[in-house]
Amino acid sequence: MGINKPQIGVLAVQGAFIEHERILQSLGADVFEIRQLRDLDGPHGRIDGLVLPGGESTVQGKLLHDLGLFEPLREKIANGLPVLATCAGAILLAEKIAGENKAHFATLPAIIRRNAYGRQLGSFFTENEVAHVGKVPQTFIRAPFFESVGSDVEVLSRTASSNPGESAASEHIVAVKYKNQIALSFHPELNSDTSIHQYFLKLVAA
Ligand code: GLN
Repeated sequence: MGINKPQIGVLAVQGAFIEHERILQSLGADVFEIRQLRDLDGPHGRIDGLVLPGGESTVQGKLLHDLGLFEPLREKIANGLPVLATCAGAILLAEKIAGENKAHFATLPAIIRRNAYGRQLGSFFTENEVAHVGKVPQTFIRAPFFESVGSDVEVLSRTASSNPGESAASEHIVAVKYKNQIALSFHPELNSDTSIHQYFLKLVAA
């Protein structure tokens, strides 16, 4: 622990957060878990970056409200706190969720579709280019993809499902950056490649 290290808060109410913590620690960050309101500012009274992990976005959204975390987190994101959001986390950020009439933080000008690759075959692994990062392993688990993004949102990666015969066999937007927000359809924390997290820590340091 040291105040000179980047202080990264990882939302730890549900889902795949531990894997993010391990990678960020291995890259030299100080990591703390956000489980309740009093965790929000970290052990040193400072949060430099936020991770919104994969899991189940509806459950996460409900817990955020129940715990009183929703509005304080939304405000920090809207005010420029660097965020790395994966899968369900990306769903939390999107301004619109296709086919649903409610969004969550709605800080990312994009339309995201949940379980976009189909529920049964929706999990697959591939490798693909991500802008600024290079070729990375991409693990999709009942993943969403972005149907469209605002004109000022940078598309970082487009990927096709590697499962044959799927409706999503063509390429779809799976990674975007908008100002302080990086949002991914896939789970970079489930592979040994750490380059996405390095890219995030660069954003935190900038
Ligand atoms: N299907 C989940 C949802 O809609 C996301 C899956 C994930 O995070 N791996 O929230």
